Amino acid sequence: MTFDYDLFVIGGGSGGVRAARIASAEGGAKVGLAEEYRMGGTCVIRGCVPKKLMVFASEFSGAMEDARAYGWDVRVDGFDWSVFRAKLDAELNRLEAAYRNTLKNAGVTAHDARATLVDPHTVRLSTGETLSARYILVATGGRPFVPEFPGCELAMTSNDVFLMDEMPKSVVIVGGGYIACEFACILNGLGVEVTQFYRGAQILRGFDDEARGHIAEAMRENGVDLHVGTDVERIEKTDAGLRVVCTSGRAHVVDAVLYATGRLPNSAGLGLEEAGVALKRGGAIAVDAWSQTSVPSIYAVGDVTDRINLTPVAIREGQAFSETVFKANPTRADHDLVPSAVFTQPEYGSCGMTEEAARDQGPIEVYATAFRPMHSAFAGRGDKVLMKLIVCADTRKVLGCHIVADHAGEMIQLAGIAMKMGATKEDFDRTVAVHPTMSEELVTMRAPVRKA
Ligand code: NDP
Repeated sequence: MTFDYDLFVIGGGSGGVRAARIASAEGGAKVGLAEEYRMGGTCVIRGCVPKKLMVFASEFSGAMEDARAYGWDVRVDGFDWSVFRAKLDAELNRLEAAYRNTLKNAGVTAHDARATLVDPHTVRLSTGETLSARYILVATGGRPFVPEFPGCELAMTSNDVFLMDEMPKSVVIVGGGYIACEFACILNGLGVEVTQFYRGAQILRGFDDEARGHIAEAMRENGVDLHVGTDVERIEKTDAGLRVVCTSGRAHVVDAVLYATGRLPNSAGLGLEEAGVALKRGGAIAVDAWSQTSVPSIYAVGDVTDRINLTPVAIREGQAFSETVFKANPTRADHDLVPSAVFTQPEYGSCGMTEEAARDQGPIEVYATAFRPMHSAFAGRGDKVLMKLIVCADTRKVLGCHIVADHAGEMIQLAGIAMKMGATKEDFDRTVAVHPTMSEELVTMRAPVRKA
């Protein structure tokens, strides 16, 4: 049987673009890719990249205060969103064009259309075209989820933040995950009055408890009005702004409400069930270790599979798929010891197990230190750094590394290499400290603070 394409990719985000490029440029496959919105996907267009640029923008308020403490004569007249927004738009346009070029140079045919499955080898485009392919890769990502409640339509999501015409003076942020905490810090740094509501007892559920507490405290000290154990009952539009009424009965009137209450896989309306593709509870596509679905010709990578929802993981999954299917190099994406960062202020870098998870698996030693870093101590800031290693008492291997500090994302990338190589606590100790740095503490913690 002849097909229009060897591979048809649905979704032009991190995972889909990597898979398409490798299959075409290195695997010699004829590849088509459909994207319904903008090439680059969540990471480039409305996620990691614009978010990180906003983190950079927001850090200048603190940096200016520090500059004064270091003897500089600086004056700040406030942040102009319109200036930043214009530059952000231009940068995203540049990146989108770069993604398109990458595909073009790799010989991939891009279709600016929504694609849906007709059967295990056929897709239909919103342009009306029907195309066949030997393999189909679903890489449609995810989208923000906002629960149903009175006034929920008045809330914005992370998608909307980058498109705001004006910066609000005050905002309520709902949620306690990555996105809620990152935007609480960003907007706070940009001078917005931020109130954050989280329904549970402590933000960043699933991360190391000690690190969570440390970040929550730092966020509060930096000016985020964080309320835990608090949920929203309704939002009303008033002349003064949006009135957010909590389950406790308290009400806050603010300019904007941002919901960051999780993300859902983009699997609805794609014709997946009709083509026989099995879904998991919650709607994510069920795949095996090779990213193959229940239909042998259909694979899926990235957030739509809800494994580890991070760009670099989706890229690895896309690469592994094309290595396996088009380069005769069977490769499984490795989901073990994935380092990651939460871009709160201070940042949180983590790799491996939390203390709580490690404790449940066997005897451990915990090495931890919290201290005022030199840069802030000199500037008179009170913020503290947390460095923490969780060590297996039997094998001495470092099972978990948790860093709360400026640039923790940069540090955890390197600690992650050592952990991936199976480094023991003694390997860390054998490494000479780089002085004076914050991360030298990782190799100088001599005695455990506790054993469990
Ligand atoms: P998360 O799943 O991390 O957090 C969702 C938050 O919303 C949780 O605090 C959750 O509470 C709360 N929540 C869920 N449902 C409700 C509800 N009905 N009412 C009130 N609160 C609710 O999702 P995010 O949207 O923050 O991020 C999605 C994913 O994107 C992350 O898991 C991550 O993989 C990725 N990401 C990664 C980033 C990075 O690498 N720096 C940055 C941003 C996103 P509870 O804890 O009680 O369930």
